Parts: sequence; C-alpha cells; structure tokens
Amino acid sequence: MSRRVWTGVVLAAGLMAAAVGYGYSRPGATATLLSRHSMPAMQAPAREVAITPEGKLFHDPSCPYIHGKPEMVSAQEAARRGYTPCPRCLGKYLRR
Ligand SMILES: [Zn+2]
Repeated sequence: MSRRVWTGVVLAAGLMAAAVGYGYSRPGATATLLSRHSMPAMQAPAREVAITPEGKLFHDPSCPYIHGKPEMVSAQEAARRGYTPCPRCLGKYLRR
C-alpha cells in the first residue's frame, strides 16, 4: 500500500520535472500552452497565415479562397482568435 503511494509521488514529481524542463527549452511558450487545454486538438503550421475579418478560416497566403483583404498573422495567433484551418489549402492541419 505505502509502496504504491510512493510510486505515485515519484511519478508526479517526474512529470512536473518534465514540464519544467519543457518550459525552459521553450521560453515564453509555457504559459500559453498550459492555458490551452480547451482548444481543439490542432497541429498549426509554423509560419504566417492569412485571415480576413469576414471569415472564420485561416489560409495559406496563396489560397484562392481568401475573400477580402487578408491580414498576415502567425497560425498560433489565428487559432487564438478563433480561426480554424481552411480545409482546402490547410486541410492537412485539421485533425478529425
Ligand atoms: Zn484556404
């Protein structure tokens, strides 16, 4: 019984150490990632994407389905604002 509890403590400490180590390796990203548990699982492209005020999708800048004047933001920023990847040009980033 006590052995099982001890194992749990060791596991929890190990997970916390791993989380801290991850934070150190990516300065500035930790707080954002930790507050993102409610976001849909999505793999975002690591580059700028085009969004429009009218739309709810973010696009590759070369996508022909962009309507209106595109604004260039990072994919992370687009996701934070509630945009989702365009299924036509960024469908590979949609996890269904
Ligand atoms: Zn598109």
